[in-house]
Amino acid sequence: MSEVDDLKRKLAMACRMLFVAELVDYSGHISVRIPGTDRFLIHGHPVSRCEVTPDDIVTVDREGKRIEGKWDPPSELPMHIRTYLARNDVQSVAHLHNRMVVVLSMADRPLIPASNPGTLFGPGAIPVYQDPALIHTNEQGDAVARTLGAGDAAILRGHGSIVAGQSIEWTVAACIDLEESAARLCWASTLGPVRFYTDDEVARVGKGRRKQSVIQKVWDHYVAKARLAGLMDGL
Ligand SMILES: [Zn+2]
Repeated sequence: MSEVDDLKRKLAMACRMLFVAELVDYSGHISVRIPGTDRFLIHGHPVSRCEVTPDDIVTVDREGKRIEGKWDPPSELPMHIRTYLARNDVQSVAHLHNRMVVVLSMADRPLIPASNPGTLFGPGAIPVYQDPALIHTNEQGDAVARTLGAGDAAILRGHGSIVAGQSIEWTVAACIDLEESAARLCWASTLGPVRFYTDDEVARVGKGRRKQSVIQKVWDHYVAKARLAGLMDGL
């Protein structure tokens, strides 16, 4: 299997795994850079995220133009492309309409680490892009990329989030930790004041969470979970 074919398969798996994790439904997407290029792979716009196959993956260039594949790319593609162009270190980008992250943003509550999943993103609040409109232009994509900065995630107020990582596996694991961090913070907030982690606690816990072996463990778990749900057929 070629490197690109392997990435297409992994991307299809990631779509189904994010569906099982309830982080994408009929919308939301994940993409990957073809290593060393300004070409990117992403699943087709109309395809259900729970049944994406490698054949449903399209290749787009740095202008967002489809150069291979049978589907149009998702309409919010500029968010992915402009992030890749702003960040040479980023290999995979996900955009989620994830519920608990959105709930926090609706109440203008910052997402600060207060439990272990949140430490993956380092100390302080995850930055928030304030415009709730869908990201359909390069200018909007640039604004989201600026909000993301050098970080791993940004919240889109009332809309969702963007997660950027060094591999498909890393990005999937970060998507899961981002939503779990937000969900726990929401629930704890209903009980009273929240005790946030100190920077030292974030650094110590986060270091272990970012290990490649842990990222792989998360990936393997969600592969197994998707398989158990009967959603890995053909991959
Ligand atoms: Zn969106």
